[in-house]
Amino acid sequence: MLYQRSSALFDEAYKYIPGGVNSPVRAFKSVGGVPVFMKSAKGAYLTDADDNQYLDYINSWGPAILGHTHPEVLEAIKKQAERGFSYGTPTELETEIAKYIVENVPNIDQIRMVSSGTEACMSAIRLARGFTGRNKFIKFEGCYHGHSDSFLIKAGSGAATFGNPSSPGVTSGTAQDTLNARYNDIEQVEDLFRHNEGEIAAVIIEPVAGNMGCVLPENNFLQKLRTLCDKHGALLIFDEVMTGFRLAFGGAQELFDVKADLVTFGKVIGGGLPVGAFAGRNEIMDHLAPKGAVYQAGTLSGNPLAMRAGLTTLQIIKNDKNFYENINKTTEILDFEIGKILNSKSIEHRINRKGAMMSIFFHINSVSNFDDASNANHALFNNFFHQLLAQGIYLPPSGYETWFISDAIKQKEIDKTLEVINNFKYS
Ligand SMILES: *Cc1c(COP(=O)(O)O)cnc(C)c1O
Repeated sequence: MLYQRSSALFDEAYKYIPGGVNSPVRAFKSVGGVPVFMKSAKGAYLTDADDNQYLDYINSWGPAILGHTHPEVLEAIKKQAERGFSYGTPTELETEIAKYIVENVPNIDQIRMVSSGTEACMSAIRLARGFTGRNKFIKFEGCYHGHSDSFLIKAGSGAATFGNPSSPGVTSGTAQDTLNARYNDIEQVEDLFRHNEGEIAAVIIEPVAGNMGCVLPENNFLQKLRTLCDKHGALLIFDEVMTGFRLAFGGAQELFDVKADLVTFGKVIGGGLPVGAFAGRNEIMDHLAPKGAVYQAGTLSGNPLAMRAGLTTLQIIKNDKNFYENINKTTEILDFEIGKILNSKSIEHRINRKGAMMSIFFHINSVSNFDDASNANHALFNNFFHQLLAQGIYLPPSGYETWFISDAIKQKEIDKTLEVINNFKYS
């Protein structure tokens, strides 16, 4: 494939946009090489600036769960656009989507719309703090909850110590209130609760982690967190920005039958437009402004174009009785068949999968936390990524990311993927 125009566009972008991109992972720093600039997308495929076509396993990092530019969603956006892009006033449409989500997702009475997953998680933590009157919270290494200061904290030296800022610009004062534990390590969480008795407002987790590659909760980890939170009077926050409407319509709460106190959403909920949301029971959500004292606001929150794209996407999913069965089956076939091919080439690997999320770790051992994910052979992943890209398969450009399977990926796309992976040369 030729990337002449992409290369030229990247050089130009580099002059005016920091690093040439508006979100770091797009720059291909992890896998090396020059990022590919896209100009259009339809169904399972992306087309780049040089007119190369790719079968897409990123799907805008999750939102394009129906495949790109679904005709019904496109029509709904066009119709709304005719009536105006944004009013800064309440609309009936906002109640329509709120009611629809509240009625179809377990354990939530009210939902507040925002414009990104970052905003949703940042606001959920503020609300948890306001509700409990406590400052600290626990998160897990390798989970991502957006880029707000409190989340950009890496683990300290021991389970009972404070974290350290992982980005310049985040203060050590902020870091003091963020505690880190290893994913799937319930004892570390118990230790943190013991050493910070009465100070922990919440535990926030990706119920299936997707930001260190795909990592599943093991040994009833989520149920155990629920029990610990109840015991210590802390809120359990499920960050379902990735898993919401993907693992099931009711997300991980429905799939694992574990109740969260607050749930955050993003990605699929906006159908490709910028939307996030957070939701919970009345007793908690009533603390938000203007009813309560915890402040949160947004000029474009509940934006009508975004709400229409989101609601239409959710309705299409909900009205298709076999939706989850189909995308899960596609993912399962990819898992088994790719596994067979890699085994036939004697390439050590692990494929983690839940629902329509999966990722390959080139690792001899199972991958249950961030350390395991880091110990995988990322150089080999990078080689794998580039060989696939050159043959028209677009994977997330990092071994720490999850593949998002869309409903537009059918047998033809599966066959093409397997054919390309069959050509993979371990060098
Ligand atoms: C993507 C993501 C976020 C951040 O969402 P943005 O819309 O990028 O701000 C938060 N949490 C999880 C689990 C995510 O995958």
